[in-house]
Amino acid sequence: MQDRQNNLVQAVKTPCYIIDEQKIISNLQILQNVAKKAGCKILLAQKAFSAFSLYPLIGEYLDGTTASGLHEAKLAHDYMHKIFCGENGKTGKTVKTGKKTENHVFSVAYSDEEFSAVLEICDYITFNSFSQWERFQPKINENARKNVKSYGIRINPEHSTQGGGIYDPCAVGSRLGVTAKNFPFEKFCKTEISYKTPQIEGLHFHTLCQQDSDALESTLQAVEKNFSQCFSKLKWVNFGGGHHITRPGYDIENLIKIIQKFQKKYKLQVYLEPGEAIALNAGTLVSTVLDIIENNGKIAILDTSATCHMPDVLEMPYRPEVINAGKKGEKPFCYTFGGVTCLAGDIIGEYSFDKPLKIGDSVTFTDMAIYSMVKNNTFNGVNLPSIAVQRTDGSLEILREFGYADFLQRLG
Ligand SMILES: *Cc1c(COP(=O)(O)O)cnc(C)c1O
Repeated sequence: MQDRQNNLVQAVKTPCYIIDEQKIISNLQILQNVAKKAGCKILLAQKAFSAFSLYPLIGEYLDGTTASGLHEAKLAHDYMHKIFCGENGKTGKTVKTGKKTENHVFSVAYSDEEFSAVLEICDYITFNSFSQWERFQPKINENARKNVKSYGIRINPEHSTQGGGIYDPCAVGSRLGVTAKNFPFEKFCKTEISYKTPQIEGLHFHTLCQQDSDALESTLQAVEKNFSQCFSKLKWVNFGGGHHITRPGYDIENLIKIIQKFQKKYKLQVYLEPGEAIALNAGTLVSTVLDIIENNGKIAILDTSATCHMPDVLEMPYRPEVINAGKKGEKPFCYTFGGVTCLAGDIIGEYSFDKPLKIGDSVTFTDMAIYSMVKNNTFNGVNLPSIAVQRTDGSLEILREFGYADFLQRLG
């Protein structure tokens, strides 16, 4: 990928994300294989990657999408589900595969307006609380036997498998999902299954972040221990995202075993909804050195920004990899990379090179397809990076370019 991209880099106006279609396909093949072998369904979690131009491709390999709310659900509806349902999607394409993709949605809380709209376009709707489920009963009953296939509720297994902080939905006091203590088991298990009135038929949990199958295994033990008393009322369980399935070294065989065992034991359809795994290592952000200044070492100012174009660098935080660069001190020429905003902490990290950097040199950050474009902002009026895709034949297609009009359109 590096060599193939080196030539392209010269051709693009920076900053620019370049999505690697071949790598997306490789990731999708791995995921499709897991779904086939395990008998589970796998959805794209759009919040990590919403490059909708690739949705028709993604829909060929996966079972559908999941959304964090109305806008993502609409995007999936327009750019993936319509075309797999034989209608002309927004792309003007129709895919006649006989395959129907599913449009799932989970929201921490739906507004009245949002819920009405989601009802029209989603097949699977998951609530974060029983209070929302009850509040929307009139609308749910009105929709009965129309497009919505099934409803679910998000649970909190209260089993943290990661360091905590802002990425742990099982942290004490979490607002994400119903805990066992607050789950109305008695009422839930007594409810008669009725054809006329929709019931909760699925459980959803999402507690992992960039983790391997062992973390899922221990989480599942907590889920079974605390919630299996209601499994006989269900049709499906969604294991959420955070499964780093396409990362080299991920224990895929163990994942398949875990899912097979669970489905056999409880006769429930398992869903996975990874985001990262779909576009992991499948894109770069190409930038250009605008200036080199001195203060306790060399600082290279790039035409990009941590806070605008790669906010996870500051939020997680982490240091993204750069092609041909080492860690500080590893190679002779060291630079701190800084962005163009006024934020003092708009620092991307420290890097070293074999040769000195010059103004005008390009700097390529790797693994920038996920949680980047979807999180961009125009703080300081900084322009958004263009979005391009390198097709499987090596050619580069610019999907989107941005300018002042995009900045203007977001403000009032
Ligand atoms: C974030 C999220 C995902 C995707 O997580 P990844 O870490 O990108 O795999 C899936 N489901 C829910 C509910 C999420 O919040």
